[in-house]
Amino acid sequence: MSNILEQKVGILGGGQLGKMLVQAGSKLGYPLHILEKNKDFPTPQIWPHVIYGDFTQYEDVMAFGSEMDIITVEIEAVNTRALHDLVAQGKKVYPQPDILDTIKDKGLQKDFYQESGFPTSSYILVQDKAEVLELINTGKLSLPFVQKSRTDGYDGKGVTVIRTESDFESIFDVPSVIEDLVDIQTEISIIVARNPKGEIKSFPAVEMMFHPTANLVEFLISPSKISEELQIKCKRISEALVQKMGIVGLLAVELFVTNSDEVLINEVAPRPHNSGHHTIEANATSQYEQHIRAILNLPLGETEILSPAAMVNILGHPDHTGEASYDGLEECLQIPEAHIHLYGKTTTKPYRKMGHATVVARSLEDAIKRARILKDRLQVISK
Ligand code: ADP
Repeated sequence: MSNILEQKVGILGGGQLGKMLVQAGSKLGYPLHILEKNKDFPTPQIWPHVIYGDFTQYEDVMAFGSEMDIITVEIEAVNTRALHDLVAQGKKVYPQPDILDTIKDKGLQKDFYQESGFPTSSYILVQDKAEVLELINTGKLSLPFVQKSRTDGYDGKGVTVIRTESDFESIFDVPSVIEDLVDIQTEISIIVARNPKGEIKSFPAVEMMFHPTANLVEFLISPSKISEELQIKCKRISEALVQKMGIVGLLAVELFVTNSDEVLINEVAPRPHNSGHHTIEANATSQYEQHIRAILNLPLGETEILSPAAMVNILGHPDHTGEASYDGLEECLQIPEAHIHLYGKTTTKPYRKMGHATVVARSLEDAIKRARILKDRLQVISK
């Protein structure tokens, strides 16, 4: 094997996750390479090693990948046909393309959980809206339920809750998963890393709080407030899933804890995740460094919590579109132990993820209190 430091690592995608990955790679001395088509995206703005191309296009991914030893992703929506062909050429692709294919399709993801015996909400797969209405009319599907488009959904887009007949107009007319509406007590995320040697390490559970209308994770706390027993249960399920999949890299596992303390897998992401931003300042190793360690088959870092933390996504104001401006920034930079990350996106749109801030403190209550102040004062508006 060639010297590990000489391995050329390429990432498909140059958004904020790509930016934080290249920063972590740079710390370890790896000049990671990026495939991205937008010059004004977060990574190309700060990073010289960018090849401009479209990660959804077969030819672009093949051309980029053939220059690399190891290929990884910061987004699932990539051309996996090219990734399969790169594996056939002897390239290392992490997450493995067959795992990406399963995860990209929420129907295949649910089938995987069910066939492998992992707990998840009951579901059926449908082709279109007509089939959903037919199932309702014949009494085979009862209200309420959740509909998720099988592909192309993200940040709550492509998810709709159908509670009454008046919601029928929002039923999607695309191949979808229909799930039971879960009685959610808490939403948890556990980020697990696995390297090719089979070493597995997970970050402590974090708890998510959702924006009431945008359906985006807006607030995240570490450690989670759920009981020790439930945390152990979540960790056990998440690590077993990683073991079963055999994934290399990170797997962010989103779980529901129900009102009856049942733990169900909602969905997973095979990459660094929004729910792990706080690990940069609040844990012994960041999720970004952990992903790089994992794909390079290096020893995984310790994951323990160094300080309680509250993370807020800095979202575009719902009424503003255009060149971004940050109102209240100077004031927020005075909040003790508030680590503000702005991604450098030039234009804002309603609810666009423009940055995040992690507030660490001696106590979780203090971190939450200061994160609330920051969230209220920092507004992303247009100029
Ligand atoms: P996305 O991939 O867009 O993030 P998710 O599957 O995570 O979509 O769903 C978004 C949110 O919708 C979840 O975080 C949760 O709050 C809610 N949700 C999803 N599935 C269910 C369900 N079966 N029951 C109740 N709420 C759900």
